[in-house]
Amino acid sequence: MFFINPDSRTNKDIPNLAVAYAATLYRSRVVDLNTMPDPGNRFCSEKENDYVLSVQSRSFGHARKIKEEILAKYPNGSVRTLKGILDVQCCYPFVTFDETLQINTPFSDALPFPEYSLFDSFETFLEKWQSGEWYYPLMTSIGCPFQCTYCMSRCRIYQTRTIDNCVDELKQAQGKWRIRKFCIMDDCFNLKKSRVLEFADKVKPLGMEWICSNGLRADLFDEEIADAIRASGCKHLSFGIESASDRVLGMIRKGETLAQIEKAVAIAKPRFDSVNGFFIFGLPETTLDDDIEILCFILKHGINAHLSVYVPFDKGMQVDAVFNGDASLCRKANVTASRTDQVLRWAERIGVKESSLPVFFKYACRLVFLCKFRPGLLPKQFFTLAETIYDKYLSPN
Ligand code: SF4
Repeated sequence: MFFINPDSRTNKDIPNLAVAYAATLYRSRVVDLNTMPDPGNRFCSEKENDYVLSVQSRSFGHARKIKEEILAKYPNGSVRTLKGILDVQCCYPFVTFDETLQINTPFSDALPFPEYSLFDSFETFLEKWQSGEWYYPLMTSIGCPFQCTYCMSRCRIYQTRTIDNCVDELKQAQGKWRIRKFCIMDDCFNLKKSRVLEFADKVKPLGMEWICSNGLRADLFDEEIADAIRASGCKHLSFGIESASDRVLGMIRKGETLAQIEKAVAIAKPRFDSVNGFFIFGLPETTLDDDIEILCFILKHGINAHLSVYVPFDKGMQVDAVFNGDASLCRKANVTASRTDQVLRWAERIGVKESSLPVFFKYACRLVFLCKFRPGLLPKQFFTLAETIYDKYLSPN
């Protein structure tokens, strides 16, 4: 048996942790098409007949294609999908189709430390970890009891490893692979304050730089946590902010107020090398003005921003009723539709295709940030490009 990690076209620098744990338990190899996409059909040259795919929502299409290719070449082969250990990573759920390989080991100290050398992309990880370019991933807990309506990590049982077990994993990776930095991958790392303080205390002697790449909760963040994690080597952190409007925060059941978010950002900014916020454009029942408020918030606080566009995925989410034709929600659908029309008309005017809008928004917002706060980082070509776009689309002549 061997495992396949399909290409998700994102997070090339982060290993699939579910498959890492599973491969370690079974001592099986992993064909990692996410970090090492080429040659894309190398799984077919294997002499095995038992394949297990680890599939996330973002790699679903590629996983189906891989299955078809395997069965076309080996009609009697077995292709299963992995179920268990982790159900979500980086906010993307793990999904299954057809037969599964179910692993019931709970997320706890009972899991072995991931043996990444089983990945065929391991040389790439090793080089990048040793140079400090990539961060070694550390998952200390999974699950989150909060109910944020847009989030695939919501309302899940919170399961933890002990802090000692996590620190032992880091010590082993430091000794065995000479990793230099690590990042916390938890869904909600600062859920329990005492646990965060214990972690900071015990990780400090390792002398490693680390970051919280997933969003922390602003309402559970304070000066004591900030000082403790900074002193232990944390250089960069992110907050899941999503919106700059109390009305929207209420609608998405964030359980936080804008005042709490602003307070957390004010505590973090002077203490950390960089502070990032995750935001979502286009949430149901929001308006273009709400999205513009997000941009104003980013500019006002001078933080880095990761901007996403809301895409309904889970039929169980209440907000999906808007997209599923519930008559009682017609008015809300109209609000969404009129806002969409507004954006589409504007995009048409400046010559941006509808399919390119999410990417366009993302880069436009990064650009706004650079112009305002880091103009020195803009390449000279940018100004030539801006001049060309202005002449072609915006100039009155
Ligand atoms: S607190 Fe964070 S992880 Fe939990 S449901 Fe909300 S966004 Fe998701």
